[in-house]
Amino acid sequence: MSKNDTNSAPKKPATIVTHHGRNPEKQFGFVNTPIVRGSTVIFDSYDQIKGNKREYAYGRHGNPTDDAVRHVITELEHGADTLLAPSGVSAITTALMSVLSAGDDLLMCDTVYEPTRQFCDIILAKMGITTRYYDPTIGAGIEALLQPNTRAVMTESPGSLTFEVQDLPAIAKVCAPRDIAILADNSWASPLYYNPLDHGANIVIHAGTKMFAGHSDVMFGTITADEKYAKVVKQTYRALGVCVSPEDSFLIGRGLRTLELRMREQGQKALKLAKWLADHPLVETVLHPALPQHSQHDIFKRDFKGSGSLFAFILKPAGEDAIAAMVDEMSLFGMGYSWGGYESLILPVKIASQRSATQWPHAGNLIRVNIGLEDIDDLQTDLAEGMKRYAQLANFKI
Ligand SMILES: *Cc1c(COP(=O)(O)O)cnc(C)c1O
Repeated sequence: MSKNDTNSAPKKPATIVTHHGRNPEKQFGFVNTPIVRGSTVIFDSYDQIKGNKREYAYGRHGNPTDDAVRHVITELEHGADTLLAPSGVSAITTALMSVLSAGDDLLMCDTVYEPTRQFCDIILAKMGITTRYYDPTIGAGIEALLQPNTRAVMTESPGSLTFEVQDLPAIAKVCAPRDIAILADNSWASPLYYNPLDHGANIVIHAGTKMFAGHSDVMFGTITADEKYAKVVKQTYRALGVCVSPEDSFLIGRGLRTLELRMREQGQKALKLAKWLADHPLVETVLHPALPQHSQHDIFKRDFKGSGSLFAFILKPAGEDAIAAMVDEMSLFGMGYSWGGYESLILPVKIASQRSATQWPHAGNLIRVNIGLEDIDDLQTDLAEGMKRYAQLANFKI
């Protein structure tokens, strides 16, 4: 917090991301927390090292660059503590290991990010933990799936490929009395538009690689826990030896300064393009929770304060040659994984093979887009031209 912050009124997120997590007095007045590289910390005396009386003791256990990020995320997510991981997947796996033991059962949303599925099916299975996948739209119906050994439920809302919104309060209502931990991947909305801890989750995870970084130049993850789970998460994190590079923390800290601006700009552009696509003759469905026709729009409106840069749409069925004709020649939309950067991306996705608890109902081709900071008219033209090429190859008239 800056020196002049003398009034103690709670600050709004746009102020938190710009002002908090820095301490110019401690760094010769320079406004940003510098990159503090280091493993060894020198102690002044035996008494100091014996009592662990220094603020920092060893590189793996954190440094000022990390703390700047931890403080901002904890405050934004209304949590007790935040830990930093070298990737989003590492944040997820560390959080899962924190709450699960041999013999436990995990309920995982069917929409979860694919590498998490592999961690559950291979690594957790090897540790004697079962994973069962559930329909993300299940809500209170999750009660029927609970077993005496169910210890955790993981949510991702909305799913980052198909954008189902989960009824977190309904899930929490049946899980909390049974002491089942609820984990939430909140990468899409960011803490500016959604705070899962306020809706019953215990642990919130971010792929900082995406919106926090904002510039497609760093891999990062964060784990924010409530009072109840902060201690066990920290214990697990330390025992696993997880830590991050201070350069990466610095880039995330810098990304956070413009998070509110980027979320707003990219989110609004994405919604405008989603509305335009919804009326396009080639589009069967647009998967964007802020559109009134979205199946879980009511839950979205109740729990979220805004929408992100990422959504998908389903084109009328056509062969792979039509998909290729569309995406190969885009002039602005790059083809690639990840999202949340300043640049627009396009990704054709096959969903059916990534589901086990639910059946993907659409036959058309799913195209996921990340909307960046380019001019919206240029983006719309690029998409429109791409869809013309798709229509031409599939013999659709548009
Ligand atoms: C990308 C992503 C992850 C994984 O993050 P990495 O930094 O790539 O490991 C997790 N969850 C969501 C929703 C993501 O989009």
